[in-house]
Amino acid sequence: MPHVVTQACCADASCAFACPVNAIHPTPDEPDFATAEMVYIDPDSCVDCGACVGACPVRAIKPDHRLGEHELPFVEINAMFHRDRPAPPIQAPVTPVVARRDTTPVRVVVVGAGPAGLYAADELLKRPGVAVTVIDRLPTPYGLVRAGVAPDHPETRAIDRLFRQIEDQDGFSYCLGVQVGADVTHAELADRFDGVLYATGAPHDRRLEIAGEQLSGSATDFVAWYNGHPDRAADTYDLTHERAVVVGNGNVALDVARILASDPERLAYTDVADHALAALRDSAVREVVVIGRRGRDQAAFTEPELVGLMGRDDLEIAVDGDVVSPGTGTRRIDLRFLRAPVEVLGDDRVRGIRVARTELSDDGALARVTDDVETIEAGLVLRSIGYRGRPIADLPFDEVRAVVPSDRGRVHGLRGTYVAGWIKRGPTGFIGTNKSDAAETVDRLFEDLNTGRLPTPTRDQGLDDLLRARGIDPVDLAGWRRINHRERRDGLATGRPRVRLTDPTRMRAVAAVSAPVRRRDRRSRRVAWGA
Ligand code: NAP
Repeated sequence: MPHVVTQACCADASCAFACPVNAIHPTPDEPDFATAEMVYIDPDSCVDCGACVGACPVRAIKPDHRLGEHELPFVEINAMFHRDRPAPPIQAPVTPVVARRDTTPVRVVVVGAGPAGLYAADELLKRPGVAVTVIDRLPTPYGLVRAGVAPDHPETRAIDRLFRQIEDQDGFSYCLGVQVGADVTHAELADRFDGVLYATGAPHDRRLEIAGEQLSGSATDFVAWYNGHPDRAADTYDLTHERAVVVGNGNVALDVARILASDPERLAYTDVADHALAALRDSAVREVVVIGRRGRDQAAFTEPELVGLMGRDDLEIAVDGDVVSPGTGTRRIDLRFLRAPVEVLGDDRVRGIRVARTELSDDGALARVTDDVETIEAGLVLRSIGYRGRPIADLPFDEVRAVVPSDRGRVHGLRGTYVAGWIKRGPTGFIGTNKSDAAETVDRLFEDLNTGRLPTPTRDQGLDDLLRARGIDPVDLAGWRRINHRERRDGLATGRPRVRLTDPTRMRAVAAVSAPVRRRDRRSRRVAWGA
């Protein structure tokens, strides 16, 4: 009975490195890894040992006899990838690592506590003598895993177990609630650390540049709103019309369409933010129209997400108006292809959107936007056409790609400065893509260290002292664990994974109150049980 990779696959490929028979591909060193939507187990090579199950950070791998009915398509999806593919050698791939030449202490600061920053910290801490301080603007870490992943995808959030293991390593520390560029400058970091590595993501959204755009909302903001991001917790959305439109055909578009269309009682047992749950309970939205400017074969959303959507028995799914997957209730998502947005309609509020038929060239590229225009009435229009990176003070910035230009993570023209994640490669890939991306950057840092190309820090005064002198009191690992414990404890009382704190002042207050919560407590309980 082979094992099967299913929807939640984060593509960090830890499973491929754990597999003793090299049955999981593509691996990060293979050319198709960059474009793959997940990794796949070859059913003919799999020896059913289960090593991959333990290595997977998001519990996406299951034996084929344990799959739910909605997961059965993944049996063929895994097998299909390996069909006609040359058999790889029977040995697990080995990650190439640039080793340290000595073990003198090295301090690196990572700016950004999302997946890219934490994977980078993990790679750094694999070498001896390294200490890593991870800074984030918010008092909470985990970036888009906390504020981006849809609440109805709890398996994906399970990657926080891996993050906790990274945090538990010797040499790891947090400096949360500190904004680089405002509370501390790049030069001040470079003066105090051997290396500065930015993993600040791509927090902005791309613009449609059409008439009436100011009436539309941003999917980026909407996602942050339903996930309780402090910056967006006070936002409001007009959910009084029975139809909403989402422009764009990526995984984010599917996420927001599902959340808008879902029965809120289904979300009531997730960690969706309280304010969003209350608003969704009052929502009149029953149909979400998702607009793609190209065809269904060109849609940017991935096969695993599409399989997951089709497996939802509560939602009717239509393609260009025709039902392809019936639902049990009155809620539906209509995927409409070959339509480009022309104008968002409305005055003081959104009334609808005008979309024009498009034509594609033979290679699937957008060839022409025609004059064949239709109006879709709606009370809410969200643009979901991709994220965009934001410049970092004192670093170069490529305005076209919206990334910090670098040579495989080594920032152009700034010795000792590195980038990883979306600010390095642009907003593509999955959570786990950041693992190999971070490894590539960290290899550059150690190449520079080994060859004496890292500048020597000039200040003895540490970052903590500097911040304290400015009246800034960062949240550390213990403080974050108190916040986490409070959210989980409040969730337990209501049958939810957590109840989110959304006010940074309240977060800081919880972080400051002593309430020991360590996983070690549970380990010691095993001793008490005599186990
Ligand atoms: P995305 O995957 O880049 O998709 C952007 C979509 O917007 C594309 O369909 C694109 O169409 C369309 N678009 C761009 N400009 C447009 C315009 N002017 N008018 C109409 N449509 C336009 O972006 P995303 O959905 O924000 O996702 C970002 C990344 O996060 C992706 O790598 C995604 O896979 C990842 N993500 C993953 C998950 C998951 O694994 N569950 C969840 C969320 C996000 P064209 O193709 O025609 O350009």
